[in-house]
Amino acid sequence: MNHAGDAPDDLLSRLRQFHSDYFPLHQQRFQDLVSQGQHPKTLFVGCSDSRLVPYLLTGAGPGELFIVRNVGAFIPPYDGSHGLHGTMAAIEFAVLHLHVERIIVCGHSHCGAIRAAYEGVSDEAIALKAWLKLASEALLPVQPGAEAFRRTEQRAVVLQLERLMDYPMVRRAVEEARLTLHGWHYVIEDGEIHVFDALRGGFVAASEASNSGTGPYRPYVDPDAPEQATSL
Ligand SMILES: [Zn+2]
Repeated sequence: MNHAGDAPDDLLSRLRQFHSDYFPLHQQRFQDLVSQGQHPKTLFVGCSDSRLVPYLLTGAGPGELFIVRNVGAFIPPYDGSHGLHGTMAAIEFAVLHLHVERIIVCGHSHCGAIRAAYEGVSDEAIALKAWLKLASEALLPVQPGAEAFRRTEQRAVVLQLERLMDYPMVRRAVEEARLTLHGWHYVIEDGEIHVFDALRGGFVAASEASNSGTGPYRPYVDPDAPEQATSL
């Protein structure tokens, strides 16, 4: 237990550092964001993984990203069930109220959610078990290894983009060219995002890509899939 006068714990030290070191340098920006409100142009849907740091990757600062994160960066199906769906609520808010211009779905290498989708989770994790089914269509009928995990992580991103298009407000905005969808796969060990390019039919390293995402939406055909006819 900590008493007054004891050395502050590590987390408290960091809170104090933010207030004393970072905040004074950016105070005006925060005050503008309060007086004028937030107007982020981007909804970032990312995996909860601690190694994925959206602000670092995109160079964004306060007010630029509206973020929702969950296990796997999954999009639940638009089912009209009026359930307590945090991710769905965030998408509705971002598109209908904030009028974001981009939605990024960002998966990553070594994703525990994708691995767990293959290997299963504890019986006690009932919500997690159900949630991981949102990746099942991306799984490959193989004994998973490093290459299969990577491809599954990428296929899962594209699958979520397809589910996003089932959201009426998303489809409407995309079709009216008010909104673009971007599928990203972050390779932690390389420090590089690979962006899904629908025109090239796959993921392209940002260093070689001509855009930051899919642009015009098209069904994805996995070039390595045994059956070329399937969209996923
Ligand atoms: Zn992950």
